[in-house]
Amino acid sequence: MRHIAIIGSGPAGYYTAEAAQKLWGDEVRVDIIDRLPVPYGLIRTGVAPDHQSIKGVSRRYEATALSDNVRFVGNVTVGPDVTIAELGELYDAVVLATGAPSDRPVGIPGGDLPGVIGSAAFVGWYNGHPDHADLAPPLRGAGAVIVGAGNVALDVARVLAKTDEEFAGSDIVAHALDQLRGGRFDTITILARRGPHQIAMTPKELGELGHLARAAPEVDPADLPPVDTDAALDPGQRKSVAHLRSFAARAVSKAVRIIFDFHAAPLRIEGEGRVQRVVVERTTLDATGRVAMTGQTYVVPASLVVSCIGYRTPPIDGVPYDEQLGRFANVDGRIAPRLYAVGWARRGPTGTIGTNRPDGFMIIDQIAADIMPDSGKQGRAGLDRLLDARGVEVVTFRDWQRIDDVEVAGARAGAPREKLVSMAALLAARA
Ligand code: NAP
Repeated sequence: MRHIAIIGSGPAGYYTAEAAQKLWGDEVRVDIIDRLPVPYGLIRTGVAPDHQSIKGVSRRYEATALSDNVRFVGNVTVGPDVTIAELGELYDAVVLATGAPSDRPVGIPGGDLPGVIGSAAFVGWYNGHPDHADLAPPLRGAGAVIVGAGNVALDVARVLAKTDEEFAGSDIVAHALDQLRGGRFDTITILARRGPHQIAMTPKELGELGHLARAAPEVDPADLPPVDTDAALDPGQRKSVAHLRSFAARAVSKAVRIIFDFHAAPLRIEGEGRVQRVVVERTTLDATGRVAMTGQTYVVPASLVVSCIGYRTPPIDGVPYDEQLGRFANVDGRIAPRLYAVGWARRGPTGTIGTNRPDGFMIIDQIAADIMPDSGKQGRAGLDRLLDARGVEVVTFRDWQRIDDVEVAGARAGAPREKLVSMAALLAARA
């Protein structure tokens, strides 16, 4: 027998559990520990509510979760409830699959003004993450500025721009839908510090902006590099740039403008007690493709700034951490003897959900090379004793299924569920 603890029940955690099951069958016991009383991490609280087909992957995780040798141990916070050192005593291997749920600070003057919000918080707000449900972002006024040119910037722009009808079939939480309905901006500006060839947006996601009911993307044709230079791009980038070219070619006028502002870096954020404007500096690219400032500045009025510039993994006491990269210090997932990182906690916030599958299998290969069976570790029995002695209220997968039933039963017409958004409501729904 082998005992494995995985911290974090998102895609990386469940793929790692699946890999352990595939390799060892009944000769392994896996405990997936999560701070929240609900599983699936980013699938539930990160993936956009109108991207239900992506969320469908959780059915695969459910199949893993329902097997006898994998257990969900929810509502348990590593640190206060059980330490990494204690888990190391109880299990043969401990895998950190904690993702990257913290915002990278925008790092410019005025970045802490009310109305400047990191994408983890903003996305968490519309996805009903208990940490962010009370955010109440400003949703009307001078305009919204989105900093960054990745897929999260697209998610945020789309959510700000969509009509009620366009959220049909999504699981956007009621508080966000209500607040969006009462607000909405006429202008959403996406600040990309580099050019169209350097965006991190993928084609399918970018293409969606061209089909919104009352919002249309705007690209200045002058920002586009000569068409023949697209040949040097990889196929995905080329498709994304093709979308930008089509946005530039057809000047559609709709109530909400989504303006792509390329070669635009935010310099500072200003306002009296809250965000009122962003001072932006025009950039250019140097010979190596890096951003160079031009000294030319201008002002974009804004009441909301959402910085979508990437995420960080929160450090854990005693676990080696790479401050610069914002994730655990590791070599191919190995942090220390019998301590591993997987997914975004290992490699930073890049790639798709599916990228975490080979990651999970790779970590199990490492563990298989490092540990021996039947080491005498206590595994889940030891964890249960410890948590029980500390009065920690564990949420099981069966409990989650009850929460799930309550959420599905509470869905508005056409929606898959209405998420419960507070820890108290989630815990109460188990009964
Ligand atoms: P990302 O893809 O890394 O994009 C971050 C963007 O922020 C880049 O355009 C980057 O520009 C810019 N940026 C970074 N620091 C900046 C700064 N100080 N000032 C101005 N701009 C700055 O990150 P993400 O959008 O958070 O996405 C994270 C991952 O999740 C990605 O792999 C993404 O594809 C994935 N995701 C996928 C989906 C989907 O498939 N539907 C949805 C959401 C997220 P530079 O390139 O110049 O650094």
